[in-house]
Amino acid sequence: MAAKDEATLLAGVPTGLLVGGTWREATGGRRFDVLDPATGAVLTTVADATPEDGLAALDAAAGAQEEWAATAPRKRGEILRTAWQLIQDRKDDLALLMTLEMGKPLAEAAGEVTYGSEFFRWFAEEAVRISGRYGINPEGTGRTIVSQHPVGPCYFITPWNFPLAMATRKIGPALAAGCTVVVKPAELTPLTTLLTAAILQEAGLPAGVLNVVPTTSAGALTEPILADRRLRKLSFTGSTPVGKRLIAQAAENVLRTSMELGGNAPFVVFDDADLDAAVTGAMLAKFRNVGEACTAANRFIVHEAVADEFVSRLTEKVSAMTVGRGTDDGVQVGPLINAAAVAKADELVQDAIGRGADVRLGGGPVDGPGTFYAPTVLDRVDAGSDILRTEIFGPVVSVVRFTEEAEAVRIANDTEFGLVSYVFTRDLARGQRMIERLQTGMMGLNVGVISNASAPFGGVKQSGIGREGGFEGIHEYLDTKYTMTPSPFP
Ligand code: NAP
Repeated sequence: MAAKDEATLLAGVPTGLLVGGTWREATGGRRFDVLDPATGAVLTTVADATPEDGLAALDAAAGAQEEWAATAPRKRGEILRTAWQLIQDRKDDLALLMTLEMGKPLAEAAGEVTYGSEFFRWFAEEAVRISGRYGINPEGTGRTIVSQHPVGPCYFITPWNFPLAMATRKIGPALAAGCTVVVKPAELTPLTTLLTAAILQEAGLPAGVLNVVPTTSAGALTEPILADRRLRKLSFTGSTPVGKRLIAQAAENVLRTSMELGGNAPFVVFDDADLDAAVTGAMLAKFRNVGEACTAANRFIVHEAVADEFVSRLTEKVSAMTVGRGTDDGVQVGPLINAAAVAKADELVQDAIGRGADVRLGGGPVDGPGTFYAPTVLDRVDAGSDILRTEIFGPVVSVVRFTEEAEAVRIANDTEFGLVSYVFTRDLARGQRMIERLQTGMMGLNVGVISNASAPFGGVKQSGIGREGGFEGIHEYLDTKYTMTPSPFP
C-alpha cells in the first residue's frame, strides 16, 4: 500500500498510553512534543506517562499474565503472524513514520520494517517449538522432567535509533513465550512503537498483554516498576552507562535481565582482502542508519599495504553520498537525532584532528536547519584519540593502520566493548583465527551487515548480556524447571 501523506499518516497514529487494552491520557494530562530532526518541526504530541501510569501498566500486565501464559502457543503464534502481515500491508506508512521521527533515509526505514517485522514472523514460528526433555538419572532410580515456563511480566526500555526493530526484537519472543509486557519507548521516537502496538491489538492481542508508556521521565517511571515484585524481567537496549545503572536497580529483586548495550566495532581489513568487498562492506557497516547504530564500524583497522587504496576508494564513495531530509529522493545520509549528537560527533572529530588525523573528507556539521553532520573520513588517527574509545554515532570514518596480524587483534580488542567485529580477508585460516581471537559476540566475516532475525544478536564484555533473535531469543523469556520423579519400576 502506498504511504499516506505525512499529515494523514500522523493523524492515524495513536498518541495516548496503552494500558490494559485502552488508549488513554496520562495522569494529570501532560503531553510532550515529538520532533522531526530534519526540520526541527513538531510532528505531534504524545501522552507523557507518570510513575503512577507506569505502575498501572504493570498492573495490567500482571493481571493478564496467567491467561496469556495459558493461551495455546499456536494462538500466540498466529497473533504474531497476523501482526507481521498487517505490518507488510502498511510497510510504507511505518517506514515514513520512522523517517519522520528519527531521520533515517526512507529506503533504510523500509529496510527496518522488513527486518523489524521479521521478529514477529520468526517468533510466531518459535512459539510452537518450546520443548523440554525427559531423562533417567544415572542411578536409574528417578526420572527427570525438564520443562520451560514463561518468565512472567516483562519491562522493556528501547532506544531511538531503530524504533521498530528494537521493540519487536523484545516483544516478539516475549509474547511467543507467554509473557506479558510493558514497553517504554525512547522519548525521541515513541510513534513507531505506538503504531506497532495498535497493529498488535488489531491482530487480536488480548487487553493487558502489551502496554506502552511513553514518558519524558524515564528514570522516575522505571524505578517503581523495577522495585515491584510482580515484575520478573527487564530487557534494555541503550547505552552502557544507563544499562549499568539498570542492572544495579534490577539486582534488588534479582530480575532476569537482557542488556543490549553500546559498541565500538573494529572493522579490520587485511592485506589479502578483496578490496571491492571491503569498501562495499565499509559503506554498509559505517553509513547504515546515518552511523547511528550500535553495530556501526567505529574503528577501521587497515593493513598498511592496502590502506592508501582502501581509504581513497572509500573516500570517493563517501563523497558521492547525498545528505538531506530522509523523505527526499536519493538521500543516503539523513540528520543526526538532535543537536547534542552533532556536538558529540564533532567533539570527537576535532579531538582526532587536533591529534594529527588526516582529514580526507568533511570534518564538521552542515549549516542550516536540521541537525546534519557532513560525511567525514579521517585517516592516520592517533592511538590516543577519543574517537577510538567512544561510540561516534555519526557518519564519520576513522582509520588506523597496522602491519602485523597480532597488532590488528590487539587494537581490535583494546576496548571495554564487545558487540560486533568485521573482518575482511581471503585467507580462510586467518578468518577462523579471528573468530577465535576477536572478543565480540558477533562477527561479519567479509560482510558489512550482520543483523538477521534468525541469528542470536548480542555482545560480550560491556556490550551486554543475553541474545535477541535466533533460537536463543525465546529462551530469554523462559525459565527452566526441573522435576524429579521416582522410577516407575520397583
Ligand atoms: P540511552 O540514552 O541509554 O537511552 C535508551 C533508553 O533508555 C531510552 O528509552 C531512554 O529514555 C532510557 N533511559 C535513559 N535513562 C534511563 C533511566 N535512568 N532509567 C530508565 N530508562 C532510561 O541510549 P540511546 O542514546 O537512546 O541509544 C543509543 C545507545 O543504544 C548506543 O549506546 C547504542 O550502541 C545502544 N544500542 C545498542 C543496541 C544493541 O543491540 N546492543 C542496539 C541499539 C542501540 P529516554 O528516551 O526518555 O531518554
